[in-house]
Amino acid sequence: MQADPEVVVVGSCMTDLVSVSTRLPNIGETIHGHKFFIGFGGKGANQCIQAARLGAKVSMICKVGKDSFGNDYVENFIKNSVSTDFVGQTGDAATGVASIMVNNEGQNAIIIVAGANLLLDSEDLKKAAGSISQAKVMVCQLEITPAVSLEALKIAHTSGVKTIFNPAPAISDLDPQFYIYSDVFCCNESEAEILTGFLVRYPADAGKAGSMLIEKGCKLVIVTLGAEGCVVLSAEDTTPKHIPTRQVKAVDTTGAGDSFVGALAFYMARYPDLSINEMIKRSNSIASVSVLAAGTQASYPFKKELPQDLF
Ligand code: ATP
Repeated sequence: MQADPEVVVVGSCMTDLVSVSTRLPNIGETIHGHKFFIGFGGKGANQCIQAARLGAKVSMICKVGKDSFGNDYVENFIKNSVSTDFVGQTGDAATGVASIMVNNEGQNAIIIVAGANLLLDSEDLKKAAGSISQAKVMVCQLEITPAVSLEALKIAHTSGVKTIFNPAPAISDLDPQFYIYSDVFCCNESEAEILTGFLVRYPADAGKAGSMLIEKGCKLVIVTLGAEGCVVLSAEDTTPKHIPTRQVKAVDTTGAGDSFVGALAFYMARYPDLSINEMIKRSNSIASVSVLAAGTQASYPFKKELPQDLF
């Protein structure tokens, strides 16, 4: 058992099953592909792994199946020094999977079966409540049952633990309590658009959508904008600030948002005295490294590979 994690993530684990072929099959058709690989994914686990690779003491609260993908996922957490004290394995559902087909143009078709992720429940949170309340930062998303994420936010909030909520995948009728119980509400442009109904393409739009989220009760909003970095604003400082990121030649941007959230959790837990703008600047840098290589967790940098002025 890991003593007092700094960061606790309540969220999803998915095994990505990726097949690459020249084109996507039509309905009823079988075609040959030329490449297959299995990757570790799921927004919760991705964010958790990035925070751990930067050196945070991290605990994951999640549910996987009692199957080979579930066993492999537990191994993956252990390899990345993540505490598995609250990684449950159930015989009632399979480990969450994303079956992904990609063609030569990089277009894809994906079926996600959340499986065991949807069986993470209140009882699991009760068992982990002591650990959540001792943490510095708690992170959650929407790839598990939303009511469970909300309950986790409330447990953390009641104990004075800082919360980061990543409303992904976004739902248009999000329970308004999510806004109130999030210290940091971090979404990407399409999520901001779904939540506000306001089209977000440029930093100025992100500022407007962010203002709408502040009006809904958020304390601090970050809208990530891919290669444009992100926009931040808060209830105290309602003027949106654009924080650009490094210009890099992106190879694969999958999971960049989760790298950003994991890095932010690390900074909030380990360097709470840094300004939020500085934390965002550094999280941008880390996420920009994650786009330089293929894969999701496979592309997340470790502390030793990064410039030491980020620490
Ligand atoms: P995903 O869904 O793939 O995880 P996302 O849409 O949630 O990603 P983005 O807004 O695309 O998240 O990116 C998150 C952060 O990653 C950005 O704020 C930025 O710091 C970094 N980033 C993403 N794409 C690039 C890029 N092409 N160049 C540099 N940095 C990038």
